[in-house]
Amino acid sequence: MSKTGSISVNTENIFPIIKKFLYSDHEIFLRELVSNATDACNKLKTLSSIGEFKGDTGEFKITVSIDKENKTLTISDNGLGMTEEEIEKYINQLAFSGAEEFVQKYKDKADANVIGHFGLGFYSAFMVASKVQINTLSFKEGAQPALWECDGSTQFSITAGSRTERGTDIILHIAEDSLDFLENYKISQLLTKYCKFLPVAIEFDGKIINEEKPLWLSKPADLKDEDYVKFYQTLYPFAEAPLFWIHLNVDFPFNLTGILYFPKVDSAIEAEKHKVQLYSNQVFVTDNVKDILPEFLMLLHGVIDSPDIPLNVSRSSLQSDGNVKKITSHITKKVADKLAELFKQNRTDYEAKWQNIDLFVKYGMLSDEKFAEKGKDFCLLETTDGQYFTINDFIEAIKPLQTDKDGNTIMLYTNHAEIQHSYVSAANSRDYKVLKFEGPLDNHFTGYLEQKNEKVQCKRVDADALDRLIAVETTTVALLNEDESKKLVSIFEKANHNTDIKFSAEALTPQESLLTITESEYDRRMREMSKMNGFNMFGNMPLSYQTVLNTNHPKAKLLIENEENEAVSIAQKALNLAMLSKGLLKGEKLTAYIQAEMEKL
Ligand code: ADP
Ligand code: MG
Repeated sequence: MSKTGSISVNTENIFPIIKKFLYSDHEIFLRELVSNATDACNKLKTLSSIGEFKGDTGEFKITVSIDKENKTLTISDNGLGMTEEEIEKYINQLAFSGAEEFVQKYKDKADANVIGHFGLGFYSAFMVASKVQINTLSFKEGAQPALWECDGSTQFSITAGSRTERGTDIILHIAEDSLDFLENYKISQLLTKYCKFLPVAIEFDGKIINEEKPLWLSKPADLKDEDYVKFYQTLYPFAEAPLFWIHLNVDFPFNLTGILYFPKVDSAIEAEKHKVQLYSNQVFVTDNVKDILPEFLMLLHGVIDSPDIPLNVSRSSLQSDGNVKKITSHITKKVADKLAELFKQNRTDYEAKWQNIDLFVKYGMLSDEKFAEKGKDFCLLETTDGQYFTINDFIEAIKPLQTDKDGNTIMLYTNHAEIQHSYVSAANSRDYKVLKFEGPLDNHFTGYLEQKNEKVQCKRVDADALDRLIAVETTTVALLNEDESKKLVSIFEKANHNTDIKFSAEALTPQESLLTITESEYDRRMREMSKMNGFNMFGNMPLSYQTVLNTNHPKAKLLIENEENEAVSIAQKALNLAMLSKGLLKGEKLTAYIQAEMEKL
């Protein structure tokens, strides 16, 4: 038996094109060939179960081996094998049509992203091999072993094969520019990456490299917490144990299984180090799930396995794909439900974990309406004294004391409790609650809270004098008259050497300090936002601080009654202290101030 033929093609140079465009992702050939071997085993398993194959299937196994001397890499399986006719049909015609379609579609486009996910199948072998042989024996009674050979041109030959047992060897004669695929470590690394959870035993270097039944395919009822934690650690060696997880199992209207973990991290950068892994029928596809998962879900870890995510199309069409949309909205819902359940079941425990999920929940609420709708009931606000409130509970709690004269409820917050300590303690001394908004998204989150809650405003503790911010008591009669107030301002203006600090006098309550340096909430937010978005439109805006001098403070009276030089010198000290407490005394000014104070010791 010997036969040669030519693979019917329109283009002579299909292989160079495959090679060129798939280059950035050429390692996927191994995934494709091992998947085919897995399919071959599964097919025989099915045939055996329906009685079409009556023999003994034995243990199914795929063996990957390297022959450095002959520069070959072989993938062998004991699956159903192929007859000569089947090679003709599946390899020469069917498989090739996939490759041909690929070339027709992409020969003019050098978009490596698209191509990396094109299910090119068998012919992807030519990305790394200069010659490929298929040595196969079908399980069918009386079948003859066959050997198919092709050197990457459109010519192939079929001769008698040498296999005596059912199954297939795919022998790759590795091309000169791909010799690293003859390195054990390389193959071992690729098998671990792509084939770790395939359902048929895969042997390499004498070891089985896969788990045939990955955890996500087990029933949640059969699993213990330890199992989930252990699995997490196989996915991400050395990572800290996760906080909790969601076991996904959907079979309608699409198929999806998986486990999503909430990692124990408190920064996005840390969370992004480990990625959600996407599988299709247990074959690793990618951990670049951008455009498949909404960005906030990418802060989670774990695996998603779905044959319904089309992997062989471009990413831009993935985003608009109906299945992908359904899948992401399902996952979003599951995640929100899980958080709601944890919050309800054990609030103390939930509060203890809040630090680690704060970023995730807020990110989700800011980016997904549906998630926000549920999230508003389990999103926690933490105060500087360590209390946790839901958004609604918090608003209710502060309403009596923290409402201004226009009826706005003022949510006071700090974005740095240490630096803004004097302002925080001033607020606390009046029994105002101050929220800790120290996370990277909290700036945006203040905007969200204001937008979603009528008559609620967020103000940083130093946004204005507390008295004016929250007009709970009508201010008392001023201790100083108008002329005296003007004099007070002029004393401070003389003492001031900072162009960005302006003064005004106001009758605040006596308990408010003599001077409070404040910064407009609006200006500061604009500046911070534009900085975050990388524009500098407001970043270059001159800083401006308003200093409110309290004409009801006992020291104010003393100051204006003092001799002017003396008064200016006292004002300077007071101003220095106020600046110091706001962190405005920096560099040269700070050094000079400290030196002067030292000398007085
Ligand atoms: P796909 O796997 O999507 O069908 P491929 O190009 O990967 O496309 O493979 C084409 C066909 O070649 C397979 O459908 C199968 O019939 C046949 N084939 C490939 N590898 C094997 C194998 N190891 N054993 C038996 N048949 C195989
Ligand atoms: Mg295939």
